[in-house]
Amino acid sequence: MMKWPWIFLVACSHSQTPTPTASTSASASVSVPVSSVSVSTSAPDPAPVHLERAFALPKSSDCKETDIRCLLEHAYASDEKSKALALELFDIAGGVAGTDHDFTMEGGFRGTLHITPALPIGDGRAQLERVVAAARDFEAFFAKNKVDPEKYRWRDLTFRFFRSSSGPRNKEVERTTPSAYAIGPRPMPKSIDDDVSFSLAYNLKGSLLTSENGVRETIFHEVFHMNDAAHGDWSPRVLGADYDAIVKKCGAMNVACLTPYAPNDTMVRGGTFYAFEPNNGLPVREYAAELALRWYKEHRAIMRHEQLPTGKAFKCGPPENRRSWDAIVKEFFALDLVPPCP
Ligand SMILES: [Zn+2]
Repeated sequence: MMKWPWIFLVACSHSQTPTPTASTSASASVSVPVSSVSVSTSAPDPAPVHLERAFALPKSSDCKETDIRCLLEHAYASDEKSKALALELFDIAGGVAGTDHDFTMEGGFRGTLHITPALPIGDGRAQLERVVAAARDFEAFFAKNKVDPEKYRWRDLTFRFFRSSSGPRNKEVERTTPSAYAIGPRPMPKSIDDDVSFSLAYNLKGSLLTSENGVRETIFHEVFHMNDAAHGDWSPRVLGADYDAIVKKCGAMNVACLTPYAPNDTMVRGGTFYAFEPNNGLPVREYAAELALRWYKEHRAIMRHEQLPTGKAFKCGPPENRRSWDAIVKEFFALDLVPPCP
């Protein structure tokens, strides 16, 4: 499997950057709470939503700028099933299912990619179903584990759906990469309540996004990047020394030597673990996102009374694993339910 290796290299100037307004302080809890009725004809009053949350949806003269429900109803008017899913995503997790914008991405060795905005309707609807399933999972997971939303944000996300293609404009070929990217219409978040930056671009044909597991894990990985940035670019500062020592000892391409240190099994095709891919911005950030994903996968397994994903706790590996595990738990999650090491 291959993830897009330039997640932090792409300049984010190609944007319709909205004008930031003075305060985003109310934004962390703006979504409509889960109500006792499911999506229905009796829509609740619009919650006070920050203006910027609407940036990925088409404007409509029928809707107030901040009335996300109204904007969603308009955007999805042609597909009732997708509309219901988009409203459900908003109601359960404050998720806004919008679109990316049209631009040309310089994709390194993948060449030039054309990113086209595309709502998840019609044959793209299955992706919205997976995103809603992921949102339900995260809501249950984080609520049960009482993770502090001021320390780790998993909800009130904006999804910018797109399709990618390459080749001459008159005969473009659809592409399945990048699957998703956290970089967006503004630089990475500087705080946990930065609404425009807590958004991720999502490829309706993404190669990592063909199953509920793949979608959930890809979203988790990307959302960790946003939290990492919101914590002052935490991972290089805190994990950098151990990460560099591992790479120095093993070499970035030595899969056998790196295996005990790799938090997740995602590989770059024909290469190394995604967490250790050298041509990948500041790769310690990828290690951190994969470590966060490992934390989630182990805790999810424990919640579900399943075996740990690899049969072995990450923290019970080499001492570097233990230190990075403890550090990420302390900074973001304040929770370690994995049994002590033997
Ligand atoms: Zn990443």
